[in-house]
Amino acid sequence: TPMCTCILRRKFIDFFKEGYEHRVVPSTPVRPRGDPTLLFVNAGMNQFKPILLGCPDPRSEMVSYRRVVNSQKCVRAGGKHNDLEDVGKDVYHHTFFEMLGNWSFGDYFKVEACAMAWRLLTEEYGIPADRLYISYFSGDTANGLPADEETRLIWLSMGVRPDHVLPFGMKDNFWEMGETGPCGPCTEIHYDHIGNRNAAALVNADSPDVVEIWNLVFMQYNREVNGSLRPLPQCSVDTGMGLERLVTVLQGKRSNYDTDLFTPLLSAIHQCSKAPAYQGRTGEADVGQVDMAYRVLADHIRTLCVCIADGVYPGMTGAELVLRRILRRAVRFSTEVLQAPEGALASLVPTVAHILIMDLINQNEVQFLSSLKQGRRVIDRTLSNMDKDSAVFPASVAWSLHRNLGFPLDLIDLMLEEKGKMVDKKEMTVLEDEYEKVLVIDDGNRVDQLDLHSLAELQSQGVPHTDDSQKYCYSLGSD
Ligand code: ATP
Ligand code: MG
Ligand code: MG
Ligand code: MG
Repeated sequence: TPMCTCILRRKFIDFFKEGYEHRVVPSTPVRPRGDPTLLFVNAGMNQFKPILLGCPDPRSEMVSYRRVVNSQKCVRAGGKHNDLEDVGKDVYHHTFFEMLGNWSFGDYFKVEACAMAWRLLTEEYGIPADRLYISYFSGDTANGLPADEETRLIWLSMGVRPDHVLPFGMKDNFWEMGETGPCGPCTEIHYDHIGNRNAAALVNADSPDVVEIWNLVFMQYNREVNGSLRPLPQCSVDTGMGLERLVTVLQGKRSNYDTDLFTPLLSAIHQCSKAPAYQGRTGEADVGQVDMAYRVLADHIRTLCVCIADGVYPGMTGAELVLRRILRRAVRFSTEVLQAPEGALASLVPTVAHILIMDLINQNEVQFLSSLKQGRRVIDRTLSNMDKDSAVFPASVAWSLHRNLGFPLDLIDLMLEEKGKMVDKKEMTVLEDEYEKVLVIDDGNRVDQLDLHSLAELQSQGVPHTDDSQKYCYSLGSD
């Protein structure tokens, strides 16, 4: 039996976290914060734009990110990446989808990124190599950009067949976030759904038989307001793989709508309408017909739920207006094509919640369960080593539970209160203040969030530094 989406999503995160020391960063809401160039979050990299540009807020966690992995909620309706018109007509574009991604910020580059992706797909997920096609950037004279020969050679050296490695231009293999913003040449992995001898000709040809699944972008430029390309201070890797498309491949389906992410929703639509069951017919002949209406409705109700949960409500301007258009399209298809009664749309919400939210809660539960057990052991051991009469729990232990095992501080307080103890508040404040400081290691350009361990090490080595109330500044020279 094929694996369910929640396991496949988990496998992606774990592959990078456990295998290659990537830090797991949660998805942001779909409403972009502090970026007026975007209507909706359209890619996993959006939240990392400041790092890519080399100007992360020095007081944010971001300054310490080197390798990151995440699964990001994305909406592609309106703006540069607008897929609204395709939704329902094909079986692999959604307005809302989840993008799995791994990043290197000035850490590993092309060789490692390609090798990791290839290993994950062919070994971990077990996709046969002969079903995969690679595209790489063929260069562009108008923009003064050379072909990415290096990447072509990397794939060949990894044993990918030469007739499976294909060049494409700006449109397909130079990824840009929007009119402005980080960008660079990319290499993409496509899946041949039917073992077609002609598959190479169907890459990037809008065919349901050969579908792009993963994009590996080599971030090297920023597209400026005047249209020019400015080289970025460091080279980064930014990858994005559509979860729905991956699941389709791994569950042995030909359409995203035939996976466990959509089938319960299609059944729910069937139940609440008077329409015949979903047949799974695709293609132009289906435009305006029952199957397309099923897909539009299933897609749009997911988008509506996610957006509303993230605080974007149907309205009259910007993202709100786009959402209103999506809602009205859903109403039209559900009423006129599927003959669904008034209220049908909202009746689908529990099914969406079931598919998306229950899964997430389960994932989060699993993530914390082992930490909780481990932390409980630490707490019990510390308590049994403590003086019976002392009510004050060592702050260093509480801090380590918080930093290393992800215990919320208020939860620690509560767990200690139950045992008649409390954290040493004074010592805790000292630790928190220390953490708030920014550790600057001046070895050319490295700026790191303070971590107490490396600070202790530097101090014990007697390395000269300046120390004011805001930051420690260490000058380490170039070694
Ligand atoms: P396509 O060429 O199929 O439109 P794209 O090149 O626009 O995809 P990217 O910007 O490279 O997509 O995004 C990275 C990945 O996200 C894609 O390889 C794909 O797996 C997934 N993806 C992109 N757009 C959608 C969408 N509208 N619905 C579902 N998945 C998508
Ligand atoms: Mg696209
Ligand atoms: Mg593409
Ligand atoms: Mg792409």
